[in-house]
Amino acid sequence: MKNLSSTFVISILGLLLAACQPADESPNKIAADLILNNGKIVSVDETFSIFDTIVVTDGRIVELGDASLLDKYEAATMRDLGGKTLIPGFIDSHTHIRGRPERYIELGEVSSIAEMQDLIRAKAAELGDGEWITGYGWSEDELAEGRRPLRGDLDIAAPNNPITLTRAGGHSAVVSTSALGLAEINNNTPDPEGGVIERDENGVANGIIRERQGIVGRLVPDSTYEELLASLEINLGDLLSKGITSITDASKRPDEYAMFEELYAKPGVKLPRSAIQFQWFDPEGIAEVKARVGDGNEFLKIGPIKVFADGGFTGPAAFTKEPYLNQGDYRGYLNMPAEELVSHINEIHDAGWQMGIHAIGDAAIELVVDTLVDALTRNPREDHRTYLNHFSMRPSDATMEKMAEHGIHITQQPNFTYTLEGRYVANLDGWRLEHNNPVRSPMDHGIHVAISSDILPIGPLVGIYAAVTRKGMSGRVFGADEAITIEEAIAGYTIKGAYLGFEEDIKGSLEPGKLADMIVLSRDILTVDPEEIMDIEIEQTYVGGELVYQN
Ligand SMILES: [Zn+2]
Repeated sequence: MKNLSSTFVISILGLLLAACQPADESPNKIAADLILNNGKIVSVDETFSIFDTIVVTDGRIVELGDASLLDKYEAATMRDLGGKTLIPGFIDSHTHIRGRPERYIELGEVSSIAEMQDLIRAKAAELGDGEWITGYGWSEDELAEGRRPLRGDLDIAAPNNPITLTRAGGHSAVVSTSALGLAEINNNTPDPEGGVIERDENGVANGIIRERQGIVGRLVPDSTYEELLASLEINLGDLLSKGITSITDASKRPDEYAMFEELYAKPGVKLPRSAIQFQWFDPEGIAEVKARVGDGNEFLKIGPIKVFADGGFTGPAAFTKEPYLNQGDYRGYLNMPAEELVSHINEIHDAGWQMGIHAIGDAAIELVVDTLVDALTRNPREDHRTYLNHFSMRPSDATMEKMAEHGIHITQQPNFTYTLEGRYVANLDGWRLEHNNPVRSPMDHGIHVAISSDILPIGPLVGIYAAVTRKGMSGRVFGADEAITIEEAIAGYTIKGAYLGFEEDIKGSLEPGKLADMIVLSRDILTVDPEEIMDIEIEQTYVGGELVYQN
């Protein structure tokens, strides 16, 4: 990245060069790198101002205005937006991106067993017989067949490959006959401690292994650093096609951060900007990282510390105030004893670090908020910007009032209402079902709410659609009173995310001096029928004024 003085020199050189040009070509025009004009440029500034033309130099926005800016500036690259809508690039303030082995298949967006079989067939052809195939993210709730895939389904697609495919949530996997054979699991193998080898009514293993799928997974060969690095570059780069120009990766180990550092140091890579959250995995391990919190630059930096309070709704394991629907007195659980969680939060707070705390169930949310309020009362910190990830259940009004008062923020996933509809309907009821993943109510309490994906799925338009419509996959509307406007949803996915990263002065809106991170949309997101929000295509993505994706 250029430092200030070289930027300054280049600007001066640009001015001198412009001044030296023949008068008939560009009398007194100021040189810029990029001008986009004839667009509907949605700035997402305080008043959501709309402009026609934007001028960019050295990766930053110089000026926005009407077509008269063309008389003032000239640029090496001029593009006519043809009336298209330009908005700030999306900032996904809670996601998880990693490099995957070549043998891995992403199953998070698969909608049928038949589609899963096509992916397996293609991967088997790519890798050859005998090679392990792995995958993650299927859920019977989203499969057209309405059932789980079993080993026979995998065998049909690739009879000569050992296969293990983990269900979304990670509590079970389906494995192929070849994989069972290599793991020496037969119909008489006893269940592993804490796990289940599922068998059909005839006592035959059906390929599903619950909780202890490692009895097969341990046989999968390790992947190489090189293949993971190459895959990380592809997976991060893919975000640009979804209009995402910045992410906060919500949970990484220091060695994984080193991989990000190597990638971002490569010349010419086209990537979104990343902030990495280290998980509070062990106090000694984190101590080595301590000196580096806040390190980095505008492309890669170390973000807040990640803390896990409870689980999610796939187990279900979110920690709730009232028992789950039809599950006796089961209320989920905390990830660690409450005293341990409280002491971790206090320790991190006292170290002066920002936290992003995973809290999904209403009981977990209320415990975390009370702990933070105690910590802030005992040891006040200005502008700590600690936030809760998820906030999937609506807590008491008193809790939201405390959050507003103490500046405890949220990064929320309205897309969960859409993709996890089946989980909520299975586990919750009444008021707490209707108010799943609330956005309106915390905003009305004065809480800062950013919007993010948590990769379910990654595309921001699903979250924006669900935030505005409150619709699940089936079309059912959940708690219409939690809906927000399209402007609020866009702000949630841009400037509000920038704020959580202490970067509202450099990104999140299109204003002079800010980074020229911006996207061109196929349709006007401000006026489109909400039912068609998910059909909008990302036509171009710019990071720092550079065109990094073109549809
Ligand atoms: Zn997450």
